[in-house]
Amino acid sequence: MKEIVGLVAGIVMTTMLMLMGCSRESGSGSERSFEWQVDRFDDINVLRYQVPDFDSLTPRQKAFVYYLSQAALCGRDILYDQNCKYNLAVRRTLEAIYTTYAGDKTTRDWQAFEKYLKKVWFANGVHHHYSGDKFRPEFGAGYFDTLLAATPADKLGDIRGTLLDTVKRVIFDPTLYPKRVDQTAGVDMVSASACNYYDGVTQREAEAFYAAQVDTTDRQPISYGLNSQLIKDKSGRLVERVWSAEGMYGAAIREIVRWLERAAAVADTPEQEAYTRTLIDYYRTGDLRLFDRYNVAWVQDTRSRVDYVNGFIENYGDPLGYKASWESTVNFKNLEATKTTQIIGENAQWFEDHSPIDPQYRKPEVKGVSAKVITVAMLGGDCYPATPIGINLPNADWIRRDHGSKSVTIANITAAYDAAAAGNGFSEEFILRPEDRALRAQWGTVGNNLHTDLHECLGHASGQLAEGVRGDELKNYGSTLEEARADLFALYYMNDPKLVELGVIPTLDVARAEYNNYMMNGLMTQLTRIEPGKTIEEAHMRNRALIAGWVYERGRADRVVEFVAEGGKTYVVVNDYDKLRGLFGELLREIQRIKSEGDYAAGRELVERYGVQVDPKLHAEVLERYAALNIAPYSGFVNPVYIPQLDDAGNITDVRIEYPTDYTAQMLEYSQNYSFLPNRN
Ligand code: ZN
Repeated sequence: MKEIVGLVAGIVMTTMLMLMGCSRESGSGSERSFEWQVDRFDDINVLRYQVPDFDSLTPRQKAFVYYLSQAALCGRDILYDQNCKYNLAVRRTLEAIYTTYAGDKTTRDWQAFEKYLKKVWFANGVHHHYSGDKFRPEFGAGYFDTLLAATPADKLGDIRGTLLDTVKRVIFDPTLYPKRVDQTAGVDMVSASACNYYDGVTQREAEAFYAAQVDTTDRQPISYGLNSQLIKDKSGRLVERVWSAEGMYGAAIREIVRWLERAAAVADTPEQEAYTRTLIDYYRTGDLRLFDRYNVAWVQDTRSRVDYVNGFIENYGDPLGYKASWESTVNFKNLEATKTTQIIGENAQWFEDHSPIDPQYRKPEVKGVSAKVITVAMLGGDCYPATPIGINLPNADWIRRDHGSKSVTIANITAAYDAAAAGNGFSEEFILRPEDRALRAQWGTVGNNLHTDLHECLGHASGQLAEGVRGDELKNYGSTLEEARADLFALYYMNDPKLVELGVIPTLDVARAEYNNYMMNGLMTQLTRIEPGKTIEEAHMRNRALIAGWVYERGRADRVVEFVAEGGKTYVVVNDYDKLRGLFGELLREIQRIKSEGDYAAGRELVERYGVQVDPKLHAEVLERYAALNIAPYSGFVNPVYIPQLDDAGNITDVRIEYPTDYTAQMLEYSQNYSFLPNRN
């Protein structure tokens, strides 16, 4: 599972999203001159991320990162092909034109062409990475023909004749492959989706095929269909084309394996070497039992400093949810930030015992959830250029049940988002008091990360149900109320001197910054993500509106939190942080009671009254003010480059890191050096 940044990535991190991560060194401090944003087109910002503490790794660990990062780049073509069968041919056609065109590059047409190519690179294909809608080129088919005519034929390779005609139709015909994934009720989702996980197969056939495979008595079932394309053979029988070194995508997978073999030899621990070799065996055979065995060993490895994900992992791209897109990350533990999660986890019982809830609903013995904070060193496949900020793996339910899961938050990515967002005008537009803007600049990231740690490590794990309550009584309000419970636990303790005493934060100013952000977001600025006329639907957003709305109303007589109108604009201002903390505690007590007793009616009343409705006047104002800031809604990243230093025998003695600034150059380099799969006809 992935946590990704939603629509308004620019602002962000600190206000809008349930953000994960605990970076203590919030991006802005260390290198003010570092240029975070390297490109901007359409609705996309392209950023860079830093890899702090890379030099704290040993030479052997650096070599490990280097080999894994090469393996992370070798699967790029797989994702293009998975997203749509003609994506590779489209990309290569566009690149052949782009790299050879000698005509006028100042025209609108050329700029539209360049923008289209940048979008295709960003989305790993012709469909938007987030919405899944096919891109519409802002240049005409006639212009495209003149570009093609100027392109040397040998640069296009086998893209000619009917394949070239198909490429043109894929680009210009809006009715062909309109959506990457179509999950509209009532349509044949497999036929309607442009993704390449099924070919010549209907939804009903695919569902019947997998239904027949599932053994319901198996307590440890493999992830059926995870690593294959489902097609019909010549006789019309359904067969899987398995993605393995000798099967489909073999040419790319053999390269991945080649680098993984080198990586295995310098792994951090013997256990890590062993499961890396299991992963290699899985890639060679496609045997999903080996993939499970690899995952079991991987999830138990909490000792290695360097870690990685490499494989067919997430199934969001398959309308039926069987097949996984290829992705990779290479990372290492952020020791400093992970200390915070450790301290919090070690004191979990103290927090539980002092929680403001009814004592009978406290957990007598609470287990803190362990999570680590990582620094990502390389992104590949479905993690590049758009990347998650948190990952929780493996996905197989039985492995999670029997062996747990690893939850990671990617601190250097959130730091890059925050640093890039600083100066985008959001604070100036929406925060009234200069002292509050200063608080946010200094402590906003720390406060937000601490909120996430407390929410994840303690909030969800706290409390217990009354006897006879199953836990599913709250039905459709369950997830909103559960998120509210975890948020309130975090908000309540955020402003507790115990955190300073434990050394988790240096000052309660951190809490003030977070309280300001939370109230402004919940009462006002999160509305930027809602279309005019709509109500709030998403569970995290409902939870924030519920909490902010409830404490605002309860504290109204004391003016704990206020709406202030100035210069025709509305602002949210917190006047009394200690009273606000008390109100968070009161609401936590009530929501814990609702959960523990399974009180559906009270839960519904809370959510419907505070969490759903939108004030249309305030909504319109917020949308207008936000639009004027012109913040790109989506962001992604270019990768760093690792340059190995070799001794005479060819062994890596050290690895140097560079941070390139040219998005186009990186994409062309990857297409040149890490492209192993053929075009399809
Ligand atoms: Zn949560």
